[in-house]
Amino acid sequence: MLLRFLLNRVEEDIRVEKERILVVDDEASVREMVSKIVNLIGHEAVTTGSGKEALEILKNEPFSIMITDIRMPEMDGFELIKAVRSHFPDTYIICMTAHGGSYTYTDVVAAGATDYISKPFTIDEMRAKLNRVIHEKNLILDLTRKSVELERVNAELKRLDQLKSTFISSVSHELRTPLTVIKEFISLMLEGHAGSLTEDQREYLGIANKNIMRLTNLIETLLDFSRIESGKGLKLRFEPSRLMEVVEDSVMTFSQQMEGKGVTLENRLDPDLPHVLIDRNRMVEVFINLIGNGIKFTPPGGKITIDSRGLTEKRDYLKIVVTDTGVGILPEDLPKIFERFYQGETTQTGVVTGTGLGLAIVKEIIEGHRGSIYAESKFGGGASFLFTLPVFGIETIYHLLLNPMLEEAEKDKSPFSMIRVEFWDQRTKRESELNHESWEGVMYALQKMVRSVDTVIPFQNSAVYLFSFNDKKFTKEIAERIQVKLTQGNYIPKGIDVRFKTYTYPKDAHNKEDFLKGSRLLFKEG
Ligand code: ADP
Repeated sequence: MLLRFLLNRVEEDIRVEKERILVVDDEASVREMVSKIVNLIGHEAVTTGSGKEALEILKNEPFSIMITDIRMPEMDGFELIKAVRSHFPDTYIICMTAHGGSYTYTDVVAAGATDYISKPFTIDEMRAKLNRVIHEKNLILDLTRKSVELERVNAELKRLDQLKSTFISSVSHELRTPLTVIKEFISLMLEGHAGSLTEDQREYLGIANKNIMRLTNLIETLLDFSRIESGKGLKLRFEPSRLMEVVEDSVMTFSQQMEGKGVTLENRLDPDLPHVLIDRNRMVEVFINLIGNGIKFTPPGGKITIDSRGLTEKRDYLKIVVTDTGVGILPEDLPKIFERFYQGETTQTGVVTGTGLGLAIVKEIIEGHRGSIYAESKFGGGASFLFTLPVFGIETIYHLLLNPMLEEAEKDKSPFSMIRVEFWDQRTKRESELNHESWEGVMYALQKMVRSVDTVIPFQNSAVYLFSFNDKKFTKEIAERIQVKLTQGNYIPKGIDVRFKTYTYPKDAHNKEDFLKGSRLLFKEG
């Protein structure tokens, strides 16, 4: 009866892969018993009476599991476990511990054993222990195999992703040149340089021209995308701007399209909004994308509104919202629409076309301004895109311009300088504000005097800041040249003096923090 029972069990276990198990004990009777159990449950046992011999055996052939006694002459169980752990780390170790020993389970595990079993044990106990350890070993083996496979697949995906990015980038570049040529020739024809045109010819060329514009926009989107993908990011050129002008420039692009579709746009922005510190061209891109989407997803008779929701709590960012009365966004799409290539249900069903890149680029641009963007929508009830833009001021100059340029200088170990150009009234001996016309002239002259890596920041018609990667001496020379040019070039009214202050890193401030503190003072003086 017992034999039958045992045999059944053996059959159950035999389906499992055969393990090679090394049994180490100085008592022959224990060795024999454990070896019998191992064989009974379908695995293969090799026995030895000493730790030293066990190590010799392991050197010659691998074992997945070792079952060892603790108290043995010469080399005891602890020494053996430590040696096996360091030379054969893949071997699982079960320790046979005796009652009343001077060690604890924690000692055994700390030495490197996988598990332990207290003597005396029954066949069932040893069998359960072995099965558990084998199960754990197989699980870990499986996990290791899977993670190696995942790593391989991941590396392959990365390679393919890189290939795709390179492909997009090179194809877009290649497309740009012939497209420019086509555009130029169509313009020449439209301007009558190839003879006069009939009404029809003019209309057809007009259509061709419009579609070339679409293609150009698409290529620019792809190029932006590959710039972001390559980790280079979008190079932003911040300048104080009037948001109204940016919005008006963007809206202009759509006048025909809106008329054709019967969608209207209301610009509710206050013309007296504070200036924002933005990359103008990129911000036009943001509005073009948002308004373009609005028109795309809004049926005839609908409306798009651009409005402001005031300043953020710290008063350094302006809240802007672009709303439409269109189809809206499904709740499940809402968290994903800013992901690259993501297209919502409406787009996928072919109602409207797109690349799924527009909002990803918009987000990148807004975040490049250290702002944030999110969408709100009730499906069927229109969509709103809310974002923040930096208000022009000391804080944002500091965060968006000064700090990043200084970091770049630090990284390249190059100097970095700041020039403050001021205008002084000879009569009152005070700083003075220039009138609009002189101010425009001064800005024009200054822009022409600096390199493209340098930045000119006008400050409320009363001072100009120049940030450049030059050393103290050269910066002073530039400042003097500016002084001469502005004074002698009739850029400023009579009775006004041009003065300057320079501040250089690391000459005037040895570390970045000091420089930032010092430049704050220089700003405050104004
Ligand atoms: P696409 O080129 O597909 O328009 P975008 O990145 O601009 O790519 O937009 C991603 C998705 O977000 C769109 O496919 C659409 O589902 C959704 N979406 C964007 N703007 C609107 C909007 N104003 N109304 C409804 N859905 C919008």
